[in-house]
Amino acid sequence: MFNKLPRNLFSNKTLQIVMPGVLTVLLFGCAIFLYVLPAVEDSFMERELGKIRDLTQVVVNEMQHLQGRVRAGEMDADLAKNEAVKRIRSLRYGYGKKNYFWIIDTKGKLVVHPYLPVEPGQDMSGLSTPSGENLFSIFMDTVRERGSGFVEYDWQVNDQENAGAKTSYLLVFTPWNWLVGTGVYTEEIHKELLSLKQKGILTAAAVIAVVALLTLHLLRQTTRAERKKARVQDARGKLLKAMAESEERYRTVADYTYSCEIWRDPDGKMLYCSPSCQRVSGYPQEDFFKTPDLLERLIIQEDRALWQAHMADPCKTEGKPLDFRIKNSSGQVRWICHVCNRVFGKNGKDLGLRFSMRDVTQRRIVEEQLRHQAMHDPLTGLANRTLCLDRIHQVMQRAQRHHDYSYAVVFLDLDRFKVINDSLGHSFGDTLLVETGRRLNSCVRSLDTVARFSGDEFVILLDDLSLPGEAIRIVKRAREELHRPYVKDGHDIQLSASFGIVLNPTDNSSPEDLLQNANIAMHRARDGGHNRFKVFNVRMLDRAVDRLIMENDLRRAMDKKEFFLEFQPILTLRDDSLSGFEALVRWNHPQKGVVGPADFIPLAEETGLINDLGMWVLDEALKTLAQWRRSEPSAESLTMSVNLSGRQFSQTSLGENILEKLRKHAVPPNRLKLEITESVIMDNAETGLFMLSQLRKAGVQFAIDDFGTGYSSLSELQRLPVDTLKVDRSFISRIGLDSENREIVKAVIALAHSLGLNVVAEGVEELGQLSSLRELNCESVQGFYFFRPLGMTDAHRLIRNRRIDDSADDNDKSSGSFSA
Ligand code: C2E
Ligand code: CA
Ligand code: CA
Repeated sequence: MFNKLPRNLFSNKTLQIVMPGVLTVLLFGCAIFLYVLPAVEDSFMERELGKIRDLTQVVVNEMQHLQGRVRAGEMDADLAKNEAVKRIRSLRYGYGKKNYFWIIDTKGKLVVHPYLPVEPGQDMSGLSTPSGENLFSIFMDTVRERGSGFVEYDWQVNDQENAGAKTSYLLVFTPWNWLVGTGVYTEEIHKELLSLKQKGILTAAAVIAVVALLTLHLLRQTTRAERKKARVQDARGKLLKAMAESEERYRTVADYTYSCEIWRDPDGKMLYCSPSCQRVSGYPQEDFFKTPDLLERLIIQEDRALWQAHMADPCKTEGKPLDFRIKNSSGQVRWICHVCNRVFGKNGKDLGLRFSMRDVTQRRIVEEQLRHQAMHDPLTGLANRTLCLDRIHQVMQRAQRHHDYSYAVVFLDLDRFKVINDSLGHSFGDTLLVETGRRLNSCVRSLDTVARFSGDEFVILLDDLSLPGEAIRIVKRAREELHRPYVKDGHDIQLSASFGIVLNPTDNSSPEDLLQNANIAMHRARDGGHNRFKVFNVRMLDRAVDRLIMENDLRRAMDKKEFFLEFQPILTLRDDSLSGFEALVRWNHPQKGVVGPADFIPLAEETGLINDLGMWVLDEALKTLAQWRRSEPSAESLTMSVNLSGRQFSQTSLGENILEKLRKHAVPPNRLKLEITESVIMDNAETGLFMLSQLRKAGVQFAIDDFGTGYSSLSELQRLPVDTLKVDRSFISRIGLDSENREIVKAVIALAHSLGLNVVAEGVEELGQLSSLRELNCESVQGFYFFRPLGMTDAHRLIRNRRIDDSADDNDKSSGSFSA
């Protein structure tokens, strides 16, 4: 029931205070009421009695009124009395309308009594109370003095029901000598009083109960509300504490974060700026609040456009890092890595931009160092291959934008660097490379790039040339500079290099292509000899392409056994007898037909195929000789000359492989003569010499091929473990032309003889040459004048038909036998 009452009724503070108040007042009121109850009862009695008196007075007034009319003659006295009796008889009042009026005259005769079964006029003076007192006397005693008054008595006449103590009021109406009376049962007044009292008490109790209940409920509600409030307050307190802690935590995280955090609202107002901002920028936090765009102001001029472009559309660049530089308060430039994020609140509300920044200066320095390392050669400090290609790429792009842009790429390779490296040691080689880099750098302009490409290969990028001729000028200067002797640790070394130049390339080739072309030109320069340069042209490229195809073909030829040998006879001049053959390789090319060794040996050397090919030639030559030796006893004293290339000499297993072949074909080692050029011996230095002497100990003979074309001095020859000197065709062909040439050949032959070497003259084509050689005491000849290189069958036939020189046999028997 109370729950239905409006809540605010109870939440109303006043009510909560008033209700207990009301209850207290009520209880207090009740106490007072109870205290004054007897007095109240008395006054109630008095009031009731007053009422009777007043009513009686009214009745008497009626009688007076009737008496007045009698006096006025309007009616006679009896009528008036009858009228009065009639009116009084029916008159009722009081509790249950039970009270009535009666009249007795002063003589005791009954005038009227509504209930008594007594006729009017009957004498009532003998009427007595249950205790025996004369009632009429009591009545009369009461009214005697004042004509009226109250009387209390016990009443019981005939009817027992109406017995009880009564209080009556008596009034004498003198004109008619009537005693008018009316009475109430005292008990009834008490009953009424009691009922009123009960009603009052009940009502009061009910009211008190209601108020008490209400108060109780209110109190309960209040305590509940208080408890709830306390709980809510507690929870709120906890929440606030948690929030404060969380805020504290976040702030601590933000404040102590390594990165600078800046948060600006959509209007650019600074909302947060972490303390690290001061650490990085040197400016106090307050400055960032005072000047929200302080960060932008600190960015250095060069990076500002970058920043503006990045921030032009934060949606696009959101979360993407940007590195830029700022100038801090002490004027130092610092690298900052910055990430911008948009901040959204609940319901996607735009809360502005958050900038997270870090000082990455150290990282950038390390990166710079790493980049430098990645882009530079550690030995010389020059640009490396990667950087070189990148620079060329940039120049090519520039050249595409500007039509009259001129540049050049120079590829250079040190001549004979390998020999120096092998003979003088790698650390000396390194010193030379460093010095080379330094010298090259001294010849170029600041805008040019000198790069070490690999090993002893360098590349110079000549940028933005005023004239193409300028490139040639710079290359010539570099060539001179490199050729200046290096004096180091007592060594006096003169270096040279071969240069390939690509000038103003016009096609849209790649940097790699460009370098390749420069490399091709460099090889072409080297083909012509050392210390030269060549400018690249398209024909070289064609050649290079041809070479590439050839290289492919060559690899295939090895598998398909497209090679074969021809044998050129070598004759002893003394009696024109046959002393041996030189095995010369040929290639039966499926498209080109027979290709001479001059066209593929250099390529085979370059590609390393010469190792396999050389061994094949040796095997084939020894096999052939073995066959001849088996079928022709005279062939036993014949030698087989086999050419060895320099590349083969770098193989450490070469000596063992050769001996193995000799054993395989059961050819005595002294029947094999290996032809090598001077430069091969010189270039392979110590290791080459050692292998050579090992083979020679086993009996293998050696000839120096093409003598005269190399640079070894004659005096050096004595160091070499060789048996024969083959004078190059270029000397022989000029032998008859002038006396000077003849003198040279004469001196060479004389020297060879003094060193105990025999001489073979190569390329004898004419009788004149032959005569001169005879005069100069040259031992042997080889040339078209006698024989061109012969096929196997022709050579075999020659052995059968020709006188064989067996003098060597006698000389060499002791040293050259091979026991298989
Ligand atoms: P080479 O060792 O000087 O061989 C002699 C070359 O001179 C041969 O050329 C031969 O045909 C040529 N010749 C001989 N007499 C005359 C002459 O009277 N007049 C002219 N004009 N030429 C003459 P070929 O066969 O073309 O060989 C060229 C070079 O190829 C050889 O020069 C040699 O260096 C190299 N070669 C040949 N076969 C081999 C081989 O199996 N291994 C290696 N490494 N090189 C070889
Ligand atoms: Ca030869
Ligand atoms: Ca030769």
